Amino acid sequence: MKVDYTIPGCPPEPHQIWAVLQAVVGILLHGAEPPPSGSILGAGQVAVCQECLLEKNEKKIERFYRPYEIIPQPGLCLLEQGLVCMGPATRSGCGALCPQVGMGCRGCYGPLDGVEDQGARMLAAIASVISAGAPGEKEEDIEKQINAAVDTLADPAGTFYRFSMAHSLLNRVRINGHNASQGGM
Ligand code: SF4
Ligand code: SF4
Repeated sequence: MKVDYTIPGCPPEPHQIWAVLQAVVGILLHGAEPPPSGSILGAGQVAVCQECLLEKNEKKIERFYRPYEIIPQPGLCLLEQGLVCMGPATRSGCGALCPQVGMGCRGCYGPLDGVEDQGARMLAAIASVISAGAPGEKEEDIEKQINAAVDTLADPAGTFYRFSMAHSLLNRVRINGHNASQGGM
C-alpha cells in the first residue's frame, strides 16, 4: 500500500504532532511546499542514542537481563548494563523518553534514515557490546561465549522487530513458499 506520509511513534509525542500540524497549516494557508510523498514527519533523523543523556562507555557485557532481573545503575547506558535498548537502531524524536526512566527503548519510532532493517541494525549493536575472546583463546571457546551471551536474549525476533516486522528483510525471506517470520524457517 502506498503511504503518503508517516508520523512514527507509539504514540507520537505531542510536540511532534504539533510540528506536523503547523507544517500542514503552512501548506494550506501560506502555500508552503509539501514534503515529498513518503516522507516521515514529526521525528528526528538520527538514532535515539544521540538524544539520550545516559553515559556511554563502550563497556562489554557477558549476558543480557530482562527488566525485572536487575535494577540498572542510574545515569549509565542501559545496553551497556545488559538491558536490551533499541536506541542504536531507532529513529530519534521522542527525546529518548524510555531510557531516561530506566526502560530500554522498544523501537517505536522505527528505523532511522539509512537503516533498511531495524532488527539487523540492532543485531549489529548487540554484537558490539558482547564481551568474548581474550587474546590467545580458541575460536570454538569464543563461539561458546558468544552463544552463551546470545542465549540470554529473550525473544530476539519479537524484540528487535516489534514495530517493523511487516517491512523487514526477515519478512521478505520466503522459504518453500512461506514467510520466514511466520514459521517457514
Ligand atoms: S543504548 Fe539506550 S540507554 Fe544506551 S545510549 Fe542508546 S538509547 Fe541510551
Ligand atoms: S525511547 Fe524508544 S520506545 Fe520509548 S518513546 Fe522513544 S522511540 Fe519509542
